[in-house]
Amino acid sequence: MLRKVLYIDLSKEESWVEERQELFERWMGGTGVGIRLLQEECPANTDPLSAAAPIIFSIGPLNGIFPVATKTVATFKSPLTGELGESYAGGRLSLALRFAGHEAVVIRGQAEQPSYISINDGEVKIKDATSIWGIDAQTTGVILRDREPGVGRRSIIRIGPAGEAKVRYAGVVVDTYRHFGRLGLGAVFGSKRLKALVISGTETIDVPDAKRYKEVYNRLYKTAVQTDVMEKYHDIGTSVNISALNWLKGLPTNNFLLSSFPQGENISGEMFAENHLFRRLSCAGCPIGCVHIAALKTAFSTHHEFEVKKVSYDYEPIYSLGSNLGVGQAEGVLQLIDVCERLGLDVMSAGVVLSWATEALEKGLITSKETLDVPLQWNGVDGYTRALENLVKAPNEFYGALARGVDYAAKKYCGLDYAMALGGNEVSGYHTGPASIVGQLVGVRHSHLDNAGYAVDQKAVKKPMEIEMMVDELIKEDNSRGVFNSLVGCLFARGVYTEENIIDSLETVGIIKTKDDLMELGKRIFEEKYKFKVQEGFDLSNVRVPRRFYETVSAAGLVTPETVEEMLGLYRKKRGWG
Ligand code: SF4
Repeated sequence: MLRKVLYIDLSKEESWVEERQELFERWMGGTGVGIRLLQEECPANTDPLSAAAPIIFSIGPLNGIFPVATKTVATFKSPLTGELGESYAGGRLSLALRFAGHEAVVIRGQAEQPSYISINDGEVKIKDATSIWGIDAQTTGVILRDREPGVGRRSIIRIGPAGEAKVRYAGVVVDTYRHFGRLGLGAVFGSKRLKALVISGTETIDVPDAKRYKEVYNRLYKTAVQTDVMEKYHDIGTSVNISALNWLKGLPTNNFLLSSFPQGENISGEMFAENHLFRRLSCAGCPIGCVHIAALKTAFSTHHEFEVKKVSYDYEPIYSLGSNLGVGQAEGVLQLIDVCERLGLDVMSAGVVLSWATEALEKGLITSKETLDVPLQWNGVDGYTRALENLVKAPNEFYGALARGVDYAAKKYCGLDYAMALGGNEVSGYHTGPASIVGQLVGVRHSHLDNAGYAVDQKAVKKPMEIEMMVDELIKEDNSRGVFNSLVGCLFARGVYTEENIIDSLETVGIIKTKDDLMELGKRIFEEKYKFKVQEGFDLSNVRVPRRFYETVSAAGLVTPETVEEMLGLYRKKRGWG
């Protein structure tokens, strides 16, 4: 298999392909290749919203070949945190990249006018997007579907008005209901005047030993569909966690003022499934179908006329736009998810920003003068809808500040104690205990998915665990996810891709690795990412933990600053950082 990188320069309107065999051999693919390309392409202290900042997409050796190896990683400098930007999306993108023959794409420069990139096998065109600039993300997808070739093997990724306005947590919508949500890739697209990227291809894939390939494929497929390792994702989906975390006192509510939501049952996964679930979808190459789509009936005139919107939901949006905003009806949550989808906003950051603003208004740090009379109050779905639209339009300084993230807004207006960000990234929906807090602080992209600290906390609730063991688990997970994210598999399939299955599946595509090789690779990838973070100013000894984490009881009881400090100290020591 030839392993190639496609380079596109928007400023020069040029593209070319380079064979980078050695890069893929040393760094596998996906996130390993992504961080190395970022180091090559992004000089220290580059403005993330300038022409000099690159966007890198990469896939791994298993994408398009094995089941549930469905993701693509985007690597960039984050305009939200000012350091490493890394985001994953499913849909059809990894398959389209594979069929077009590019394991990585590097986008440089800045277009002179609104543009989109069209890639069809080896042909790359930069096309005028003036007529679709300003159009919402969903409609943009519909328009490009009609304009561009490659039906079936095509992926369309695009931004909405939030990306165009460079909202620091704007995302990129991928195909249908999938996203590069976190850390502001949409704003980087917007800064390049890049509305969309459409990719399709017709290449075929050869495997060296078809018999062995079939054997390993069947083993993985059967594990995914005939055992219980992925059952939860197909059935209720991740939203099943709403009830569980609510019961455990780990469900952030009203900006983490509470850790259980009295109306939790109304927005539980079970409630969505019974009353709103319309269908389930899958990313291309996945037999699971975890993408849950709800039907939301909306009146659009006073004469009893309705439209049915299809809105995807899972745990994180229900937390961020539901319990954390005190929204206790499923329809309200779906309405807010739909607004974020159209605008192209990351739902998690958007929800946390609004919950901070609601509390800041309650406490008098801001007034109706700042909100422009928009009533920000718990459960106030219509007010939140208007606020989301305002933070994209930025009609005044306050909404402009909200568009830069909760850290920025709280530094300007006060209220840092309850500005719920870790490492500059708005937090995920887990108040489970110290491992969740520390996990997001030390994680390379400050995400719950870096090392699953929330899962470590829940294990410790069931069976008490020494602090040192919790830290060991975080480190082990940090490293092993580096390997899995180089492949690039869906993290829901971690139970399918055991070490043995990873080694066997790599062997079928001609890559021979031992367990030790994989361990070493994971550690190396983590270290390269930290090098980039430190180069851009990240300092683990100087991170902020919002006081609210220590004031609200978590699933593990009250967390103390001493515990978090002790864990951070141990983490630094075990990483050899003094
Ligand atoms: S489990 Fe869900 S997110 Fe993962 S690949 Fe399958 S459909 Fe996509």
